[in-house]
Amino acid sequence: MRKLLIAGNWKMNPMPSPLDAYYPRSDIDVVVFPTFLDLKHCIDAGMLCGAQYAHAEDSGAHTGDIGMGMIKDLGCRYVLCGHSERRADHSETNEDVAAQAVAALEHGIHPIVCVGETEQERSEGREKSIVAAQIEALFQLSAFSSQLSIAYEPVWAIGTGKTARPEDAEEMHAFIRSLLPEDKRETTRILYGGSMKPDNCKALLSQPNIDGGLIGGASLKPEQFSTIVDIAVSLFPHSS
Ligand code: PEP
Repeated sequence: MRKLLIAGNWKMNPMPSPLDAYYPRSDIDVVVFPTFLDLKHCIDAGMLCGAQYAHAEDSGAHTGDIGMGMIKDLGCRYVLCGHSERRADHSETNEDVAAQAVAALEHGIHPIVCVGETEQERSEGREKSIVAAQIEALFQLSAFSSQLSIAYEPVWAIGTGKTARPEDAEEMHAFIRSLLPEDKRETTRILYGGSMKPDNCKALLSQPNIDGGLIGGASLKPEQFSTIVDIAVSLFPHSS
């Protein structure tokens, strides 16, 4: 059985307040991704935290970057790899993202690897080949472990208020699962991300291959995030 994971990506925003909604829960995993400035505060306050990014190399001439070992020492348990905003803003390739995932695993950090197609790629009917290439880059570096999760985040749904229809998201999640190594297929969590909100999360999280959510906008609103977490808890154990 896959434990649901609800992750809040605060992006480049100040910490929401109050923080009560963001603490660990017993039945599901709740993880937050604050800015680098706020990570220590959140870790010291007892939250399960991840970094929004870390470099594949441990140290060196990479001005403005931070290494996996550094975020591990700070107390991060998770890291996002290849969020579409980083792929776009920092030209991260599938290979860069796979290298980050390998580095995270080597440091005992759980990577959440983000994949997803743009609106144009979907309109051209290329969504599955795009996502398959993003997933297959992970195999080339043997970055596969059950300590890795995937987030399917259609780029057109991120921060736009447009959410994938639950049946379309489920179809893509089932496709992603079919690509995974057989021995990891049933244990790997595949999260959905893209305008997940209190009013649409139940339909998404009830799908058999959707094992949680990566939430941006709604994670900055404690009441909305807490409602999503409560709904996820009510769905546990997951129907898969
Ligand atoms: C995200 O940042 O990963 C995300 C899914 O954002 P939003 O929920 O705002 O679409």
